[in-house]
Amino acid sequence: MQIFLVAIFALAMGSFVSLLSYRLANKQPIIFTRSKCINCGCVLKAINLIPLFSWLCQKGKCSQCHCKISARYPAIELSFLITFLAIFFVLGSEINFKILLYFLIASTLIAMCVIDLEQYFIPNSLQYALAILATILVIHQGGTNAAIINVKAAFLYAGFGVALWIFFYFAGGFEAIGIDDIKFFFIAGLMLGTKNFLAFMLLSGVFGLAFGAAWQKFKKDETFPFAPAICLAAMFCLLFDKKINPVDLLGSMLFFNSF
Ligand SMILES: [Zn+2]
Repeated sequence: MQIFLVAIFALAMGSFVSLLSYRLANKQPIIFTRSKCINCGCVLKAINLIPLFSWLCQKGKCSQCHCKISARYPAIELSFLITFLAIFFVLGSEINFKILLYFLIASTLIAMCVIDLEQYFIPNSLQYALAILATILVIHQGGTNAAIINVKAAFLYAGFGVALWIFFYFAGGFEAIGIDDIKFFFIAGLMLGTKNFLAFMLLSGVFGLAFGAAWQKFKKDETFPFAPAICLAAMFCLLFDKKINPVDLLGSMLFFNSF
């Protein structure tokens, strides 16, 4: 029963974020307007707005003018469904305050990825929302002391980001990471603490390299959005919190490879 609730919540949030990110990017009012087909302008009925299913049933086409509806909508809704179910199972398959916080943090992270992928920036409003959610999570788990300790971690993460920027700027002559990414590093530190520092940086690097290579191959663009790599790294650290340690994992892989 709970899994059913989680799935509905995931699809509803996914649908909301796909709408929000589209309207934010196109400077349209966010609420109080009916969704319209961007091609024929017809107002969409409730039956056309069921997340994932409407798109699948209509085979990705508008039911009035039969133009193609972008796959971004079902793709975003599906990524919410997968992420929420993963959180639900990893955190013990029970809906409580902690899991709701995780859902909100994951929603913010996916929204950041969507906007960075489409617009090449991370909105400040989402960074603030993430900072607030991260602080609530840390206080909920370890009290105000934990939050104060994690502020130091935040400076460590952001400082490392600045060091990376300086290194690539002077050694390679390009900006490997942007100011939005450094802000994100600060909040990641606040959320994850020093114990996850190596895991977070390692995963960000690995995901960033893989994603950057794929982006250059398919999009033919030198600059690539970094948010998907760092959001995925943050989500991984948040979910497994050193139960699966990528640093040890890499170490043992290298160790076995040397034979
Ligand atoms: Zn239409």
